[in-house]
Amino acid sequence: MNNKYDVIIIGAGPAGLECAHQLKNSDKSVLIIEKNEIIGPKICAGGLTNLANNFYIPENKTRSFAKQIIFLNKKQYNITLVNPIKTISRLDLGQYQLSKIKNSRNIQILKNTKVKEIENNKVFTID
Ligand SMILES: Cc1cc2nc3c(=O)[nH]c(=O)nc-3n(C[C@H](O)[C@H](O)[C@H](O)COP(=O)(O)OP(=O)(O)OC[C@H]3O[C@@H](n4cnc5c(N)ncnc54)[C@H](O)[C@@H]3O)c2cc1C
Repeated sequence: MNNKYDVIIIGAGPAGLECAHQLKNSDKSVLIIEKNEIIGPKICAGGLTNLANNFYIPENKTRSFAKQIIFLNKKQYNITLVNPIKTISRLDLGQYQLSKIKNSRNIQILKNTKVKEIENNKVFTID
């Protein structure tokens, strides 16, 4: 493959996909290169901080934990959180982020392709 792009994003993790989302329908041609076939899965607790509100993830894709039980010195403490802890599976997060940029006229995604080297504005890959 020998093409020119304004922006090449290496890695379709949360950062790369959000970066592409910010460029959606802009005048920049964007290529995302991801080494894996499936976008999303990762060893991760999937905890979402309040900053993740900026991603507008639909509630039905997340789980909320409002109650915490702590055992300490043989005593049980029941805590109800004002701001419940939210989690999401990384596969669901990746696929949700992907859905937001699918069919964008200026964004292409190259999966199953690992970046080997970057040199003088050129990105070299291993298929
Ligand atoms: C055990 C564990 C638990 C965690 N729990 C939480 C949590 O609860 N909440 C939270 O917010 N964060 C958690 N994190 C941190 C979170 O996983 C990272 O902050 C987040 O994944 C960073 O996103 P990213 O897009 O920068 O990188 P990544 O998610 O690492 O994405 C990078 C992408 O680039 C691809 N890639 C890498 N190298 C190449 C290459 N050479 N060529 C092509 N593609 C490439 C990878 O396949 C991957 O898809 C946890 C992390 C770990 C390890």
